[in-house]
Amino acid sequence: MITFYPGPSRVNSQLPEYLRDAYLDGIMSINHRSPEFEAIYQRCVELLKEKLQVPDAYTVFFTSSATECWEIIAQSLIEKRSYHIYNGAFGEKWYQYTKKITGNAEGYKFDEHKAVKIKKLTIADETDFICLTQNETSNGSQVSNALIKRIRKDYPDKLLAIDATSSMAGIFLDFSNADIWYASVQKCFGLPAGLAIMICSPEALKKAKKRDENNHYNSLLFMMEKAQHNQTAYTPNVLNIYLLMRVMENSKGIIQVNEKMSKRFRKWEKFFNDFMEVALLIQNPEVCSTTVIALKGKKNRVEEIKEAAKKGGITLGNGYGIHKEDTFRIANFPAIKKKEIRLLKKFFTNNVK
Ligand SMILES: *Cc1c(COP(=O)(O)O)cnc(C)c1O
Repeated sequence: MITFYPGPSRVNSQLPEYLRDAYLDGIMSINHRSPEFEAIYQRCVELLKEKLQVPDAYTVFFTSSATECWEIIAQSLIEKRSYHIYNGAFGEKWYQYTKKITGNAEGYKFDEHKAVKIKKLTIADETDFICLTQNETSNGSQVSNALIKRIRKDYPDKLLAIDATSSMAGIFLDFSNADIWYASVQKCFGLPAGLAIMICSPEALKKAKKRDENNHYNSLLFMMEKAQHNQTAYTPNVLNIYLLMRVMENSKGIIQVNEKMSKRFRKWEKFFNDFMEVALLIQNPEVCSTTVIALKGKKNRVEEIKEAAKKGGITLGNGYGIHKEDTFRIANFPAIKKKEIRLLKKFFTNNVK
């Protein structure tokens, strides 16, 4: 079965080798307070910073999911009020989670077909956090680095938190434009689920100290204390941290990955131009995601196409949220092989008008 699901997604093809090494080298049994683990942690962070171009002054943390990052931000960072800019199901979930925890979150929903209009934002003075989903996995839309930079510039006194779960390691992100970035590894990193990365600016850490919240196993203050020693607060997914280190070691720099993925995306875009029954849900190139492709069609045809693909050994991603029934999704993630893309294109040519 070949999967194009946008998470959990096709894993890196070197994993069998890395897993074998992990077994033979005893990685799966090492203690998370041991020097062996600390060395893996440190190397993994170094590689992430180098390959993804994370500023030196930023700190990388390991958590278990993007969802956990939503909680950590709400419990350990937001002091007064957060403002959530979203256009789809994931951004909305983040807003709802935060509202439940802090009781003081405001949502601003924008049109998924258009870029956010910064002038229309109504951010109250007391707001200390702006939250934004860079790549909305539910509809295949994205927010550009340039736009994030403009928000930063217009609101210099507020911290900016970015959900980049389905784009980090697939596109170039200018981390210096925001304070908190996070992603789980089952999307662009090509790894099994159960690990996420949270990247924080020095200002974010300052805020955590000011907020002074230390009541939870995943309180950011506690995580910061442990991270200084290349450790985590609880027994982490050591195997996945090891696998992430190996994948990063072998991965090209993000500029090259970005180039390759956007070329692939442009080919997909051109390819789907020729179909009558399906079309990109997001047609505006300014906001169309290059890592998650959502295709829209008639409800019954979407179902039939997914079924036919499955019979042909190909898994397509289901639609999500309000687009559940009339779209399906295709991951354009780095781990997917050229020959798999050829097979999928052949499937469309033979089965879809
Ligand atoms: C997948 C996804 C999440 C949730 O990730 P988990 O690892 O399941 O917590 C959050 N935000 C976005 C944008 C996603 O694509």
